Amino acid sequence: MVPRIPDSPEPGGDPNDAYTEDRVPISNRNVLVSGGGVSGTALALWLARKGFAPTVVDSAPGPRAEGDHVEVSRRGMELLDRMGQGERIRHLGSHYTEIRTHISGRDQPILMPFQSGGLLLRHEQLVRALREAADKLPDPGVRHRDGDTITDLAQDDDGVDVTFARAPAERFDLVVGADGLYSPVRRLAFPGSDDDHLRYLEANVATFESPNVLGTRDALSWHVWPHRGCVAATLPGNERLQVQLLMRDRFPVYADSLDQGAEHRLVEEVFGEDGWRMPELLRAMADTDVSIVPATRVRMDVWSRGRVVLVGDAAYCPDRLSGQGPATALMGALALAGELSFAEGDHGRAFFSYEAAMRHTVREAQAVARHVVETGAPEAGPYEMWVRERTEAALTRGSLLLNRLGLRPPMDPVGEEFALERYAPMFDD
Ligand SMILES: Cc1cc2nc3c(=O)[nH]c(=O)nc-3n(C[C@H](O)[C@H](O)[C@H](O)COP(=O)(O)OP(=O)(O)OC[C@H]3O[C@@H](n4cnc5c(N)ncnc54)[C@H](O)[C@@H]3O)c2cc1C
Repeated sequence: MVPRIPDSPEPGGDPNDAYTEDRVPISNRNVLVSGGGVSGTALALWLARKGFAPTVVDSAPGPRAEGDHVEVSRRGMELLDRMGQGERIRHLGSHYTEIRTHISGRDQPILMPFQSGGLLLRHEQLVRALREAADKLPDPGVRHRDGDTITDLAQDDDGVDVTFARAPAERFDLVVGADGLYSPVRRLAFPGSDDDHLRYLEANVATFESPNVLGTRDALSWHVWPHRGCVAATLPGNERLQVQLLMRDRFPVYADSLDQGAEHRLVEEVFGEDGWRMPELLRAMADTDVSIVPATRVRMDVWSRGRVVLVGDAAYCPDRLSGQGPATALMGALALAGELSFAEGDHGRAFFSYEAAMRHTVREAQAVARHVVETGAPEAGPYEMWVRERTEAALTRGSLLLNRLGLRPPMDPVGEEFALERYAPMFDD
């Protein structure tokens, strides 16, 4: 079922007599986007294509060459295809064709063919591809300001006065916070603090890249133990693995509270006695950087406040464990740009419809992270683990049978109900 977009409230905001090239009057043309990651870059691209004048400010000096791998789910890839970027981006990444579930006491994993239609690639490659598409737009296109950040915001009925760490202060019609989990725009423009908006999922996640010591090809391998688990996915080319270690804990671990080498020590402490291939993985870990972050999602009652609106992780981070962050960032950017374009810049109507378009998908995506924590690091003792693993094995065999009979339920339903067709006019150019 396609969610119904509720009727918009009465229009608000004054048209400022700006016109797109085809003479459609739009108000609020001058949009500042804080954060040039996935959502910010996509949003600016779409806005510029529809006659807005976006400026993107990012604290980083520019897209990096290296960086973490992220997943773009099938729905996200569908959206990139509609933008005309899918084919190019597919060449940069890979996807798994197999899930290997390892169970204690068994040498061989249970194999499950997997065709999610998603893609695993470096975050920076995705951002760079979107930015290159924006760079090809005719003038004025998207204005980029790298290496700067917003330090203050003050809005009135007609606009937002913004001060920056480096550039002189400037007034914009609208400000978008696309600046990630610890969004500075959210902190400056919305009541409450991060403590009110971030929800810790009671697990910390250690991530590192290593040579492919498992020797797997296009596969995601996993093994769980009581209160902890390991997921190792092959990276494009199968030479390397991305290893994620889930550790249940009532308390979040923050990198800035750790001394040098503490990440390695913590992982050794939690997984040092474990079997399977953990000894090899831990040896591989010794030569590489490890990051530990708390599994966290963002919950906010509203995503806009006057002329300021949030998108992507800043508004609704589903946590990286969900594998849905990039896709929900892309969907949110499309919905926000689409609604602003349909409402000819009337932000009151547009922000209302944007939230209505996204809420359902966000709820689904956030439920995935909770599920991954519960299954990937179960709150269970050894006996319950034994029962769980045997049940898992039976269910996997059941799914294989359903597969063979062609009765497989959709593997990746998040975003199925996002009304992509509503935004078809955004793909016209
Ligand atoms: C280290 C890391 C690993 C991840 N791994 C995965 C994964 O394996 N799977 C998965 O699905 N998702 C993963 N994610 C999450 C995924 O990258 C995001 O959900 C997705 O990119 C959301 O897009 P976004 O635009 O909201 O945020 P991002 O793409 O993260 O963009 C936020 C942007 O804001 C900028 N910014 C931050 N602070 C400021 C500031 N003060 N001023 C200006 N700009 C600022 C940043 O430089 C960045 O460019 C990971 C995220 C991180 C940070």
